[in-house]
Amino acid sequence: MSWVTAVWAMVAAACLTLAAVHFPVWVKDRTARPSLFFSMLAMATAALAFCELAMMHAQTPAKYAAALRSGHVAVWVLTVSFIGFVQTYFKAGRPWLAWLVGGLRTASLIPNFLTGVALNYTDIGSVRGISFLGETVSIPVGSPNPWMLLGQAANFLLVVFIADASLSAWRRGDKTAALAIGGASIFFSLAGIVQVMLIFWGAAPIPITISIFSLGVVVAMAYQLSRNVLNAARLVKDLRESEERMTLAAEAANLGIWMRDIEHGTFWASPNTRTLFGFAATETIDLHALLLRVHADDRDAVGRKLSEPVKDRYQAEFRVNLPEGGIRWLSAQGRFEFEAGKPVRARGACGDITRRKEGEQEMLRLRHEIAHAGRVSVMGQLAAALAHEINQPLGAILRNAEAATLLLDANHPDRDELRAIVQDIVHDDQRAGAVIDRMRSMLRRNDIERRPLSVDALLVEVAALVRPDAAARHVRLVVEAPEDLPQVVGDRVHLQQVLLNLISNGMDAIDEAAARHRKIVVKASLRDAQSVEVAVCDSGPGIPASRIDLIFESFFTTKACGMGMGLSISRSLIEAHGGRLWADRNGADANGACLRFTLPLTGPA
Ligand code: ADP
Repeated sequence: MSWVTAVWAMVAAACLTLAAVHFPVWVKDRTARPSLFFSMLAMATAALAFCELAMMHAQTPAKYAAALRSGHVAVWVLTVSFIGFVQTYFKAGRPWLAWLVGGLRTASLIPNFLTGVALNYTDIGSVRGISFLGETVSIPVGSPNPWMLLGQAANFLLVVFIADASLSAWRRGDKTAALAIGGASIFFSLAGIVQVMLIFWGAAPIPITISIFSLGVVVAMAYQLSRNVLNAARLVKDLRESEERMTLAAEAANLGIWMRDIEHGTFWASPNTRTLFGFAATETIDLHALLLRVHADDRDAVGRKLSEPVKDRYQAEFRVNLPEGGIRWLSAQGRFEFEAGKPVRARGACGDITRRKEGEQEMLRLRHEIAHAGRVSVMGQLAAALAHEINQPLGAILRNAEAATLLLDANHPDRDELRAIVQDIVHDDQRAGAVIDRMRSMLRRNDIERRPLSVDALLVEVAALVRPDAAARHVRLVVEAPEDLPQVVGDRVHLQQVLLNLISNGMDAIDEAAARHRKIVVKASLRDAQSVEVAVCDSGPGIPASRIDLIFESFFTTKACGMGMGLSISRSLIEAHGGRLWADRNGADANGACLRFTLPLTGPA
């Protein structure tokens, strides 16, 4: 075999092999468009190599012209795929320049087929043999076709287009790629352009070897694509390692991690996430299945957070019904990823907080017990003091009443003495009244601390305290407080006590009536320039009009185990703060009750 055939066949074989390697990459991953353009470019180079071989072995002008015409079709594919590769690989290049190059190259096909014998010659008179690589090859003897300027303009502009795109890639930081692909493309394209100009304008009697120059470009592109594959493989390895490290850390912290593809509706969950939600290892998880595991009372809130992302991050605490029975409290945090303003992915982690929640509930129970014991002890002290102080005037009243009865039994009762006895009774009664008043004012003073405090923070604290209890009693607690509410002056602990009392009364009322909507709304607002109003409204049965004032009386209760002291103590405390506590009937539901109190911004006058 001759050298020329061997070299050109090898060029074609190398290009076809590279095309065969990269074409399937695009078939499998349609986003890998540089691989498609690269394989097109390699195939066009191979085709060009065959055309050049045919030209070199052509024995007649007609055969030479036919091979040259076909070669221009290969050059058209080569130019188009070159532009496509540069644009998709560098993500750069001016579109108008790309269209101009493509347009000129396409337009040049018309004179190629319709004028002269090919784009480059109006006629080829003969072919003559010259010695090339140790053998004789044919070159044409003919007159240049001026239409070939069209093709040459396309070639020059292609070089400008590549140089411009490579420069953008270089400036962006893709220096290696810009140098390897841009540098090689410009060098070999210029070499090719100079060569064809010398040949076709009759300056150099040598055969066309564009495919050899094009091979240089193909090799540079193949090198760069292989580097990318290598980098991707390294990245996959690093990613796997980092994923393993993260999984290990998450498992050590007993956290579950998960990823949700919102577009495709798929869900990936780590083994720990499956255990936390009670899913089997092989069970398919989707949003619906996940929400079904969430406790019915928390489902709406969790569903809303997961399906209507308003912020990129979210946090939720909720209960999960376990398949084996019982519930588990989970805390979940996650982040949404948006593309073009639409959420496409969500990732997050969740952990078991059952022990913390149980601790909170236990704390709340203890707090209730302490509050209860406190009330009982206040009651006890009150009762003992009352018994002690009132015993004496009551005894005197009794004795005076007995004396009056005896006097009335006499035939002529002494009216003056009777008047004196009745006056004594009135005095003793007033004394007893004074004792009770003193007790009340003692209770009122009750070591009230006067400090500026934020009502908003107070409500949040109380809500945190009662929330577990409310959850256990299936009552939804809603707290509404504007953050810019001015501060009030008061005693944090006492005001907490009042709010706890009002909220637990509301929950008792909801329980008692087995209300369908179970909701308590605690709302703070600015009442006027001097005071803030806090309303605790429930969806219970409400308070009958006849009892609206009675409920504040000491010892008034309608509950089997009630003491009837909560509201009277609360009223004393609010009045000690310079505020007012009252009830009305506009509850959180059509029927519910509303207990409202005011607190002055500056404390009691
Ligand atoms: P107790 O809770 O021990 O009964 P309170 O003084 O706190 O004592 O309440 C007195 C009574 O007021 C309650 O027994 C109940 O009848 C009535 N009451 C209080 N809050 C409400 C409410 N939110 N809805 C209906 N009734 C209420």
